[in-house]
Amino acid sequence: MEIMEDVVIVGAGIAGLATAVALKRVGVRALVLERSEGLRATGTALTLSPNAWLALDALGVSHKLIPLYTPSPKGYVTNVSTGEVREVLYPRQVRTLHRKVLLEALAEELATDSIRFSSRLVAFQSLEQGGDASMAAVHLEDGTTIKSKVLIGCDGVHSVVARWLGLAELVHSGRSAVRGLAVFPQGHGFKQEVRFFLDESDKAGFVPLNDRELYWFFSGQGEKMSGEAEKMQRDVLEKCTEKFPSEYLDVVRHADLSSLSWAPLMFRPPWGIIFGKLSKGNVTVAGDAMHPMTPDLGNGGGASLEDAVVLGRHIGNSFINNGALIVPGDMAKAIDDYVKERRWRAAMVVTASYLSGRMQQGDKWWIKFLRDRALYKYFFGWLSRLVFVYDCGRLPAISFGAMDLSSKKD
Ligand SMILES: Cc1cc2nc3c(=O)[nH]c(=O)nc-3n(C[C@H](O)[C@H](O)[C@H](O)COP(=O)(O)OP(=O)(O)OC[C@H]3O[C@@H](n4cnc5c(N)ncnc54)[C@H](O)[C@@H]3O)c2cc1C
Repeated sequence: MEIMEDVVIVGAGIAGLATAVALKRVGVRALVLERSEGLRATGTALTLSPNAWLALDALGVSHKLIPLYTPSPKGYVTNVSTGEVREVLYPRQVRTLHRKVLLEALAEELATDSIRFSSRLVAFQSLEQGGDASMAAVHLEDGTTIKSKVLIGCDGVHSVVARWLGLAELVHSGRSAVRGLAVFPQGHGFKQEVRFFLDESDKAGFVPLNDRELYWFFSGQGEKMSGEAEKMQRDVLEKCTEKFPSEYLDVVRHADLSSLSWAPLMFRPPWGIIFGKLSKGNVTVAGDAMHPMTPDLGNGGGASLEDAVVLGRHIGNSFINNGALIVPGDMAKAIDDYVKERRWRAAMVVTASYLSGRMQQGDKWWIKFLRDRALYKYFFGWLSRLVFVYDCGRLPAISFGAMDLSSKKD
């Protein structure tokens, strides 16, 4: 079977769905291909900072989420090696939310036939015209071929599209993380604050999602804690029993085992983003496919939302200027402009996240010195402001004659 589409997005994660919403807002239909049978909410929850909320504003989605989640005004970092407890003040809009709720809020903005589940991209080729790829032939596992004028890889850390573009290989940070939900049917009683616990090699924390549920995580050096959920929970408890406070252990004991997941913490080196080929003709990447990062500033999802708005803006402007048409040559220019706008920002967020994590976890004397004397006093606020205080801009308002596509509902 062969299908023709204007824009194909590979992956219905945060980046893929948000990009499809951004394109819809500027009048461009995109088909999202997702290999799973439904939306995947691996990781259970995530924290979004002001830059992410501005992007969600631009996408017209934030109003659905803001009433559901209370902001966390501050956090407490306990260094269990020194006993020091440091207060960290957050900007106004820092909220932790269920991933599923975010994905559903994005997906429900799209027409039902614009997400195709059980559709794994296995290969694609560019059909070159005049030196640059102006068409992509996308091959799915079920034998379907889709020809598309624009192809956007939002297929996550192990992106097929990023590999095709020749982007730098991922680097393993040497750390991994377990994440999950804790459920207290009678209420957990914690304030709406983020709690972190650090020692020389491990980091753990939790934050309320609502009165009954908390999101918790554990991240350790080179830990291999994958496997059955019970084993992950047992391993975390064993690692933490001696050093982290009983309130953290109690949260882990209340884990909803079905929510647990383990992930090695990988990133693309910033120079691979600065010097890498982030697009070729009408093919590009967004989200983790472009800039996988360690989660130390909790911003991979936020940066993915920024990508979506910026890509939507550049494609939208080209579409509008061409009278509601996708003109391949102009689209290549729009994608190039997107890459120019995102390259340095993405590299900076990856670097800031890495540095923050490097200073928090490690047993070398200079890391201990930085963590114990300087990190939260001087650097953390500065690094997090660099990442959190950023506005990716708006989407263009569209109106083709009497038809205002921005308000058109499918
Ligand atoms: C431990 C940890 C904690 C984190 N905490 C935060 C946080 O607090 N805040 C935050 O903003 N970010 C956080 N992140 C980062 C965030 O999870 C990611 O940056 C974000 O999920 C990236 O979204 P994405 O859509 O690019 O990729 P993904 O969420 O990985 O989505 C990719 C999608 O593509 C699909 N796919 C892959 N290959 C194919 C294929 N060949 N064909 C079809 N479909 C395919 C997948 O099934 C998936 O649905 C954290 C990450 C980790 C590991």
